Amino acid sequence: MYIDSHCHLDFAELRTLLPDVLAAMQQAQVGGALCISTTMETFPAVLELAQQHPQLWATVGVHPDNEGVHEPTVAELLAGAQQPRVVGIGETGLDYYRLGERSVADMAWQRERFRVHIRAARRCGLPLVIHTRAAADDTLAILKEEGGFVPGADPTPELPPARGVFHCFTESAELAQAVLELGFYISFSGIITFRNAAELRQVVSLVPLERCLIETDSPYLAPTPHRGKLNTPAYVPHVAQQLAATKGLSLSQVAQATTANFLRLFSAVSLPLELT
Ligand SMILES: [Zn+2]
Ligand SMILES: [Zn+2]
Repeated sequence: MYIDSHCHLDFAELRTLLPDVLAAMQQAQVGGALCISTTMETFPAVLELAQQHPQLWATVGVHPDNEGVHEPTVAELLAGAQQPRVVGIGETGLDYYRLGERSVADMAWQRERFRVHIRAARRCGLPLVIHTRAAADDTLAILKEEGGFVPGADPTPELPPARGVFHCFTESAELAQAVLELGFYISFSGIITFRNAAELRQVVSLVPLERCLIETDSPYLAPTPHRGKLNTPAYVPHVAQQLAATKGLSLSQVAQATTANFLRLFSAVSLPLELT
């Protein structure tokens, strides 16, 4: 059995296809999928998916790329986190890939938004789903500071340190190492199946299986052999297959380990009875 640790079933591309998507998941032995929130405006739709389907769960948070949307407070994130079937905070993080005319200094709002998510995650004890692109140094620095990994700089030393996953990992081996040292998990997407991703597959080989998650990030990033088509959680076994090939493991080892890792990290997840 597989679990897709990161998908966007509320996006227009997938929402109207939901019955087909759920049937395809079952057929492909994908027993569950985590539906990731990207704005507070659309969080209710993500929550509804999780509350109506036993194999889906939800997170609450605002994606770093989203501008002109409601800026969440810690209290609002905590209110979302209290809803049944919400098991994580995010996705959140930093993305300097599309700066356009702006400089890194102009992105203070993104860094502040990331801090708010980390504060909420530490208060409610749920794991963070972290998105980072072209912003590795700042992501790590803020996570260490706000996440409780720098004793002198920790604003809430009474709370346990942040935990979570770096999703759709495409960054360097150095960042992967630093992330592992903080106790975080690393989630790989269909990108690891792409022909031109040899460097990323090197990173895959360095991350211990006990810290790997798999995801589709659907509707985008369909893995080979479906590259360029609409992606769905039913394709997550292709990611597992690549992980197994790169690490020289069997597919069933990877399926079992990544499912166990997911359930260990997102400990608020309850599996549908037929899967336990
Ligand atoms: Zn993301
Ligand atoms: Zn995402």
